[in-house]
Amino acid sequence: MIEKILGAMFRLEDLRQILRETAPGHHLSSEQKEEWENIRTELNTIFESKEEQKQKYLTDKIELRTREEEYINIDPIQAAGRLTPEARKALITYGDGYSVCDYCFKPFRLDYIKRPPIAEFMTELAEFVGMDVARVLRGARNGFQVVSNALLEKGDVALVSSLAHYTLCLAIESVGATWKEIRVDDQNIITAENTAAKIEEVKEQTGKQPKLVAISHFDYMFANEHDVYGIGKVCREYDIPFLYNGAYTVGVMPVDGKKIGADFVVGSGHKSMAAPAPTGVLATTAEFADVVFATTKTKGDVTGRQFGIKETQLLGCTVMGAPLVALMASFPKVRERVQHWDEELEKSRFFTDALLKIEGTKISSEMPRKHTLTKVDTRDSFDRVAKTHKRKGYFFYDELTKRKITGIFPGSTREFKMNTYGLSWDQVKYLADAFTEIAEKYELGVG
Ligand SMILES: *Cc1c(COP(=O)(O)O)cnc(C)c1O
Repeated sequence: MIEKILGAMFRLEDLRQILRETAPGHHLSSEQKEEWENIRTELNTIFESKEEQKQKYLTDKIELRTREEEYINIDPIQAAGRLTPEARKALITYGDGYSVCDYCFKPFRLDYIKRPPIAEFMTELAEFVGMDVARVLRGARNGFQVVSNALLEKGDVALVSSLAHYTLCLAIESVGATWKEIRVDDQNIITAENTAAKIEEVKEQTGKQPKLVAISHFDYMFANEHDVYGIGKVCREYDIPFLYNGAYTVGVMPVDGKKIGADFVVGSGHKSMAAPAPTGVLATTAEFADVVFATTKTKGDVTGRQFGIKETQLLGCTVMGAPLVALMASFPKVRERVQHWDEELEKSRFFTDALLKIEGTKISSEMPRKHTLTKVDTRDSFDRVAKTHKRKGYFFYDELTKRKITGIFPGSTREFKMNTYGLSWDQVKYLADAFTEIAEKYELGVG
């Protein structure tokens, strides 16, 4: 079915192309008329025909991507970045390069554009994460980069979690600063206490305070919840700017940056806000807005040119066109959906409960689950089967694929991460049944 739908959509794009080639007035040549009629006829028959559409490629070597329609996708990083229908519509209408620049007037900056309502969106976005000013950037990593660039100098130290995402470490490295890790406690949690201890350690070793503390609320390895409130408090006591990394929170659960005590809130559009890549959010306080979103001050030595109020770190404008408009188009639903995080947790717990019934299966993440992303330890369950199976670890992947479940790394039966965000109860139950069925098939006890 999805091939038919895409086939029809592509034919519609071909019709659209004729309009583009004949504007204004759309006087079609006889060839174009014929083509138009052919496409119309094809369109009429696509859904009548009993045959499956054969098209597997968009063009040349680019395959159609139908994973979200054909499978239950529990890929850890893809779940909350799935687009809303509104975002997909934005992609096809605003896909042309600089499409959002149609109504860009003085002072010529992305966040001033009123049509489409980008200016309004930026304000709402800041409010959404409980901060004063927000900008859309090219992913959470770009947020780390902008903050690092503005705050850190060569030789400075920034503190990150021992579970920090690599992009944060690279952002710090990219400006010539050093990142040092705060230890997790025995539950794999970053505490306020360990943060303070690391600040003291750095002071002792270098004679200077760290210049930034950046911690994710939920890390990407276990999706454990870290004490961001306590860490915010420690940072205020030491007067060190605190970056709250909400790559796994902004867009799925309510986030109030001021309440947390954050100076910066970073979010990921493509990870958690039902937006295409590359999109992300950097929000900050009025105090730090002047630092990270500082405007250009230089002047051409020959021409005397200046660039108005372009924001230097952002290179003027950041995400333009379809990705931005799609992020905006999803936003009303995203703003609504964060209110239903509790139900997402219920589904996540339902699934982990089902997994725990399978003999030998453990959950590596903290329990009970406070996130829909979970790390599962199957060394004493599915991996035991893998040891004697002729397909080794791939048997598990094969069994899941047969049941139209995707998103777990092929061959991995020791540990894997999965994310149930956004699945319906029916889908979650299907998922639980499927895992149970596979366990039973290979004679693992199901309690
Ligand atoms: C995914 C992730 C990132 C990177 O997000 P992008 O928007 O792709 O740059 C950063 N930090 C954490 C904790 C993540 O999980």
